Amino acid sequence: MALMKCPACRKEIGDKAKVCINCGCPMDEVATSGIVRIKMPNNIVEGVVGLFSSRKALVYDTSGKALWEGKHGENASFTVDGATNIIINLGGWANNVEGTVEPRKKYSLVQDMGIHMLATFRITEVDVIDAD
Ligand SMILES: [Zn+2]
Repeated sequence: MALMKCPACRKEIGDKAKVCINCGCPMDEVATSGIVRIKMPNNIVEGVVGLFSSRKALVYDTSGKALWEGKHGENASFTVDGATNIIINLGGWANNVEGTVEPRKKYSLVQDMGIHMLATFRITEVDVIDAD
């Protein structure tokens, strides 16, 4: 029997289970695995530290597993099993961005005014993102 993660409580359960044995969540009503797309920011308002930015963008989950690697301005694309907490790293000059994403949804990063010359972002769901 293969194992999968319950999208509600994140504990491992058998992939044939109709209901999660840990939290009771019905498995046929929750979003299963699917692709998430996230537009990485470009033309960012940068502080002094931006001069040394590598322009690399990394997406990983809270266990540290890499989900996507690319550059600023690109569209990240990766598969998740249900709602997943992710962390986006945009280089040394920006704060890590944390948030929850769901399968088959699209997201963009909105920049807020940062402190100490750092850029801060949050993940926002959008209907459409730019083409790659
Ligand atoms: Zn559960």
